[in-house]
Amino acid sequence: MPCSPRLLAAALILVAACQREKPPAAEAPKPEPVVKYGVRVQAGPMDSILLKDYKPESSLVVPRTPITKARFGVIDVHTHSDMNRIKTPEDVDAWVRTMDEVGVETSIVFTGALSEEFDRQVALFRSRYPKRFQVYCDLLTENIDAPDYPERAVRELVRCYEKGAAGVGELSDKGFGLQGGQPPRDKRLHLDDPRLDPFWEKCAELRLPVNIHVADHPSCWRPLGPAQERTPDFQHFNMVGKDVPSYEELLAMRDRLLAKHPRTLFIACHLSNQGNDLAALAQALDRFPNLYLDISARDYEIGRQPRYAAQFLARYRNRVMFGTDMGRDKEMYLGWWRLLETPDEYLPGRVWWPYYGLALAEDVLKPLYRDNALTLLTWR
Ligand SMILES: [Zn+2]
Repeated sequence: MPCSPRLLAAALILVAACQREKPPAAEAPKPEPVVKYGVRVQAGPMDSILLKDYKPESSLVVPRTPITKARFGVIDVHTHSDMNRIKTPEDVDAWVRTMDEVGVETSIVFTGALSEEFDRQVALFRSRYPKRFQVYCDLLTENIDAPDYPERAVRELVRCYEKGAAGVGELSDKGFGLQGGQPPRDKRLHLDDPRLDPFWEKCAELRLPVNIHVADHPSCWRPLGPAQERTPDFQHFNMVGKDVPSYEELLAMRDRLLAKHPRTLFIACHLSNQGNDLAALAQALDRFPNLYLDISARDYEIGRQPRYAAQFLARYRNRVMFGTDMGRDKEMYLGWWRLLETPDEYLPGRVWWPYYGLALAEDVLKPLYRDNALTLLTWR
């Protein structure tokens, strides 16, 4: 369609007017160049990489110690039948084959079960391999508000003991209590709840050790964001914004439990979730003689501080036991042996932190791997 000359002229005048009214474009301030230790940071393709996709490949070439088997027969004090995908006798056979290959003599299995399911798992593990497995039972947490709850919990414990339970656990309280799920605050059963007193005393009487998981890694109580310490793989464990006690309050519950039941042997797993602060953990060990530890799933804590961790393990060589809690792949076990036995450096880790081997001396490694478990735990 032809455009009339008058219309065109009017449009041009309008545009010119608009341009006149616009204030002169302010000179945008040039951003200060970011300089880190003398290097000017510049934009590039790395800026759009997502944190969860960051998997750097190391170019470091350093000596690697050949490791095919543990130096001593190992007792793994922390495994789970469900996490290790054990359902059938064939699954058990496959696990025993791997244990033979890597040098694990016995695995302590947390069945997470009571009643018939516990009995089924006792038969599954112990009918053919009574020397290779010890099974632990769970804690009854049904109807905790009923007046007969303490008595019922003890009765089921004794029943499991008679069926072959060698201990109790793993009992986890990450803040929502021991029952599982997320009950409201006034419905939670915490470790220091007086309703559990008869249960802990019965454990002492039967000499059943109790594996407890108190709180969680302290980074779970720090916000998810650029300063979060662990990888996004662990973000679903985060507690910020959830209606749970603080990390410190949960550790205080642990301390009240330990003080109130000095005859009961407690194994606080994952270095009691204080592997980030071994001096604080040492204080707890000094204060409570009934507190023991397992190092399960804290490869990244000891691997990032190999010298301090080795000192700690030497000083508390009678209080710490080896555990995995990381499935049952052969490579997983070999990774642990490398970490504990060798001085190998910059080992690939699970949470971004490369590990450094602790090269533990024989008189530290052997109690950790087996002697403490043999003397402290109950064997059925
Ligand atoms: Zn566990």
